[in-house]
Amino acid sequence: MKTVPAYYEFAGTDSFPVNILELRSEGDKTALILDKTIFYPGGGGQPADRGSVNGVPLLDVLEKDGEILHIIESGDGGRLAPGPAELVLDLKRRRDFTVQHTAQHLLSGTILRLTGKHTVSMHLGEETNTIDVDAPQIDPESLARAEDTVMDIIETDVPVIIHLCPPENIADFPLRKTPPQGEEVVRVVEIQGSDFSPCCGTHLETTGRIGMLRILGAEKYKGMTRVSFIAGRRVLQDSRVTRQNGETVSRALKVPVAETGKAVLALIEKANQFEKQVKELEETAAHGKAKNLLHKAKILKSRGRDAENKEQNSAAPEKLRVFSINYPASEMEDLLRIGRAAQKLTPTVLVFFSPFLFKFAAFCSAENADIRPLLKDRMEARGGRGGGSASFFQGLFDSAEDIETFVASLPEEADSL
Ligand SMILES: [Zn+2]
Repeated sequence: MKTVPAYYEFAGTDSFPVNILELRSEGDKTALILDKTIFYPGGGGQPADRGSVNGVPLLDVLEKDGEILHIIESGDGGRLAPGPAELVLDLKRRRDFTVQHTAQHLLSGTILRLTGKHTVSMHLGEETNTIDVDAPQIDPESLARAEDTVMDIIETDVPVIIHLCPPENIADFPLRKTPPQGEEVVRVVEIQGSDFSPCCGTHLETTGRIGMLRILGAEKYKGMTRVSFIAGRRVLQDSRVTRQNGETVSRALKVPVAETGKAVLALIEKANQFEKQVKELEETAAHGKAKNLLHKAKILKSRGRDAENKEQNSAAPEKLRVFSINYPASEMEDLLRIGRAAQKLTPTVLVFFSPFLFKFAAFCSAENADIRPLLKDRMEARGGRGGGSASFFQGLFDSAEDIETFVASLPEEADSL
């Protein structure tokens, strides 16, 4: 049954009387067929309207096989019956999408005039909108020029005219895109004198009602450029959020809002320097700690520089000594830092283990040594899991007992290869 569309003429908050002709199942929902409707069923990139039928909220409105279906929850079907009903439109949402949609026509038409590039597809979202422009890239200056030109046309308050044109006369219009085929009448939306586009959506009567348009950004998308934008009150909302953020940063950094960008970059630079310094201090501390540990475990014989160097420079022994060191770290990163520092002090095999973490890490800086044969089988025999390279190996056990048994199984010396 053909529903008479009244959505182009009606955009008010009053209730609108109609007749429900039929209720039917549509998937797990219920669809209503009305004699006429004020709800735009979606199309041309514009989402469907929302609202209610006798107070029952609409989930969706869509066109299917030439009918307009008004979708409600199945459970709500019992509250409605064929006969007279009142429709109420969610006017705020309709107005918002009408603004975004008209702004999209204006932006696409302006980009075409300024750059010669066509809009291939568009999407109007609940928060932001996008157009895909058939250009591998659009430079920021061109986008800023498009934004300024759009604002000029908004301020001039140019009429938006709807032409209902028989398909045979469609060539009379310099259309920006191909009209749909098989229509009895083609709706052509004209932004007076500058843009002609076939479109079935809802539009404002003049460009002034768009209020403002803001391009949010442009990114590469499938060989094209996806330009995102907002219009109308969304620009106000966006500006409020941006201003609030700017003021928060301004108060925190004690600089004017206009200088917050520069101040944040300087702060990040400073934080990076601090981070670098902290890392260096950690490395120095780890070196000292590792040296103490090795002395206590009698791995380094004396605190003298000569003794250390002697041990480091001595020719690689045929057998490598193996030392296990109980280092009760609560974080693996700490254990690894100590291990890496200790590795620089001696060419022996060092096995640092933490009974708290049930983990160990082994290090060996002797040239050509491979510590894997020493560790892998012993680890797996106690249910441990892990792996590594010739000079670094780490593993994990299920209990403190397992890791202690593993450590006890290590020989005092190992083959150097
Ligand atoms: Zn349109």
